[in-house]
Amino acid sequence: ERDYIGFASLPDQIHRKSVKRGFEFTLMVVGESGLGKSTLINSLFLADLYKNRQLTPVEERSEKTTRIEKKTLDIEEKGVRLRLNVIDTPGFGDGVNADDSWRVVTDYIDEQFRQYFMDESGLNRKNIQDNRVHCCLYAVPPWGHSLRQMDLEMMRRLHKKVNIVIVITKADTLTQSEVKRLKANILRDVEANGIQLYKFPECDSDEDDDFKRQDAEMKQSIPFAVVGSNAIFEVGGKKFRGRQYPWGVVDVENPMHSDFIKLRTMLISTHMQDLNDTTQDVHYENFRAQCIAQMAQ
Ligand code: GDP
Ligand code: MG
Repeated sequence: ERDYIGFASLPDQIHRKSVKRGFEFTLMVVGESGLGKSTLINSLFLADLYKNRQLTPVEERSEKTTRIEKKTLDIEEKGVRLRLNVIDTPGFGDGVNADDSWRVVTDYIDEQFRQYFMDESGLNRKNIQDNRVHCCLYAVPPWGHSLRQMDLEMMRRLHKKVNIVIVITKADTLTQSEVKRLKANILRDVEANGIQLYKFPECDSDEDDDFKRQDAEMKQSIPFAVVGSNAIFEVGGKKFRGRQYPWGVVDVENPMHSDFIKLRTMLISTHMQDLNDTTQDVHYENFRAQCIAQMAQ
């Protein structure tokens, strides 16, 4: 006697299929020149994390006029394949005039949506490459009191198109209380200006206590204050990325020193799928609806 027909295995089937196909994730960094964006990307994804692997620059099929730089990393862990794309954008003040710097970024995001939309309506829908931008790390300098007018303007142009995650860079230049105050000011300005940042999902009630604690700690740290470095130190046989000061070394991955590990854990191991889903269900749907409305005119 059977009281089930077996569709409970559906999640496994879907899982197996997507594992076979592999995952794609595209991360973009935006912000003023000199804030440590490129260093942060290296710290997040290079060398020690993936030995013998390098981000390889790839040719862009459409962008010729801008200096947007795309790098791709194919990674495999325990049979799971991930193609990671990193989009480094020209910073404000990087030779692009301020009026245009937002346009370069929004054009890029729109273009990826448009391409996906075309592919999806085309004949070969099965093997669409997903180059849509799933997350935008927005770099904020540590030396201001909060967000600047140009940050707010930039975010206003972006928040309906992409998941924005704010990072305060070079956090090693701030004291603990300065970090705290800056974070509070940023969140206040975000709220006051109606900016919609990436909304971290509620933690499932059936998750274990460790996971819940980790999730709560992560949410309390937003916006992440991070440190990056290209210098590797070795102490007692353990290698780490750090920044050397007369009074000591800042360890990029030490949670007492910065939120770097929280950011990396969030991006790579806990929220990648949700960032993907939100891109599909919210931002891409927005774009699609606009396209269809325009076609109907
Ligand atoms: P980008 O223009 O935003 O890509 O910035 P870069 O990554 O090229 O870094 C600009 C400068 O800031 C370089 O001299 C870096 O060594 C320095 N830098 C990068 N990350 C940090 C950091 O976390 N703390 C400090 N103090 N300096 C940093
Ligand atoms: Mg750079």
